[in-house]
Amino acid sequence: MNKGHLIIISGPSGVGKGTVIKRLMQRHERLRFSVSATTRQMRPGEVDGVNYYFVTKERFEQMIANDELLEHACYVQNYYGTPEAPLDAMLEQGYDVLVEVEVQGALQIRKRRPEALLIFIAAPSFAELERRLRGRGDTAEDKMQKRLQTARWEYDMAAQYDYIVINDTVDAVTDEILAILTAESCRASNRMQFLKEANEHALSPDVGAAETH
Ligand code: 5GP
Repeated sequence: MNKGHLIIISGPSGVGKGTVIKRLMQRHERLRFSVSATTRQMRPGEVDGVNYYFVTKERFEQMIANDELLEHACYVQNYYGTPEAPLDAMLEQGYDVLVEVEVQGALQIRKRRPEALLIFIAAPSFAELERRLRGRGDTAEDKMQKRLQTARWEYDMAAQYDYIVINDTVDAVTDEILAILTAESCRASNRMQFLKEANEHALSPDVGAAETH
C-alpha cells in the first residue's frame, strides 16, 4: 500500500480554517486530522484529545526534550506542537494526514519532510478578513491589531507554500483543496508503484517506484 500524503494547512486567524477542515474531513474519507498538543486554555466546546491535547508547560517541555514533536512553535504566548508518532502511524496505514499549523511550524515541517504539501488558506480580501475577525466579537482592540499584524506577516510568508487557496465559500475552497490532492495522487512518483502492481508483466523489471523523467 502507498503511504498517505502529509498535508499542511495554514492561514491567518479568522480565515475559517476550522470550517474548511471539517468539510474536507466529510468529503475525503481517507483523510485524518493530526491532533496537536498545546499549553493554551481549552475553549468552550473543545474536547481534549479531539481538538487538541491540552497539556501543561512542563509536559510540553518534556515532549520537546524527548523529541516527540515533528515541530513546535510559540504562538500568542502558548506552545503548540505536532506529535510525530501518531502522524507517522496514520501515514503508514495509507491515510492522508492533515496538519493545521501556523507558519513557523509549516516551514519546520517542510525542512524535515520535504515531501509535505503546504497549502495556505487566504481570505478573499484583507478587509473581509478583518470583518470576519471583528464578527467574532471576542477580541479586545489591542489583540485585534496584533492579529491583523500577524496576518500581514503570514500573507508575506504564503509565497513559500506550494498552493494558496482563497476561502470565498467553504465549498469552493474545499473543491480547490480536493483538486490539489487529486493532482498529487496522480503524480508519476506516486503512481509508479500502482503501475508496477497493476501491470506486472508490462513493465520492465528495472523500473523503479521513484523513477520519473
Ligand atoms: P488556536 O489557539 O486558535 O486553536 O490556534 C492558534 C494557531 O496555532 C493557529 O494558527 C493554528 O494553526 C496553530 N496551531 C495549531 N496547532 C499547531 C501545532 O501543532 N503547531 C504549530 N506550529 N501551530 C499550531
